[in-house]
Amino acid sequence: MTSALLMSAVAAAAPLQPPVETGPFRTPDLVEIAPLDATIKLDVRYATPDNFVHKAVYAEPRVFLQRPAAEALIRVNARLKPQGYGLILFDGYRPWSVTRLFWESTSGTQRMFVADPREGSRHNRGCAIDLSLYDLKTGQQVAMPSDYDEMTERAYPSYDGGTAAAREHRDRLRAAMEAEGFAVHPREWWHYDYALWQEYAILDIPFSEIGR
Ligand SMILES: [Zn+2]
Repeated sequence: MTSALLMSAVAAAAPLQPPVETGPFRTPDLVEIAPLDATIKLDVRYATPDNFVHKAVYAEPRVFLQRPAAEALIRVNARLKPQGYGLILFDGYRPWSVTRLFWESTSGTQRMFVADPREGSRHNRGCAIDLSLYDLKTGQQVAMPSDYDEMTERAYPSYDGGTAAAREHRDRLRAAMEAEGFAVHPREWWHYDYALWQEYAILDIPFSEIGR
């Protein structure tokens, strides 16, 4: 390998440490969502092999957010209850080393759907949540225009194909989330960032070290 080729290979490799950021940042205060509201369900596919890297990347099916985002999410769930729906959570705070693993596990256009570890993800800041709705009567997840983590245009919140019912569920979730300070990702109907995300630093704390 020539030195120029070697240098480009080195430049393409993901860094081993999170990016160095200059604050000030709020003191991290990650809280677990499920104990706060028994009507919020979990479907943490990253704690199972049922995800796009086909192996468990979390040891435990737990979902955390920074406290103001967690409290806002509880309010979203309360908003949806009289409409007959509850929240089901796929993922929240994600340690930076997992974002790095996702980047290393993807290539080409798939990388549109994963965060560059040189920049980190809003999940790493504890201010992003991946979620859907379930029907309070049946307890089942509702139909959406695409599956979670589907890397196609069906995942775009602006996608106008699929069934009317699926689009209605997607748009209902979005309205409730936006009312409490969350903004949807332009290519993922399930991903929302909380308004204060810029005020929290990237973290690489494993779940086992939170709140214990
Ligand atoms: Zn996400």
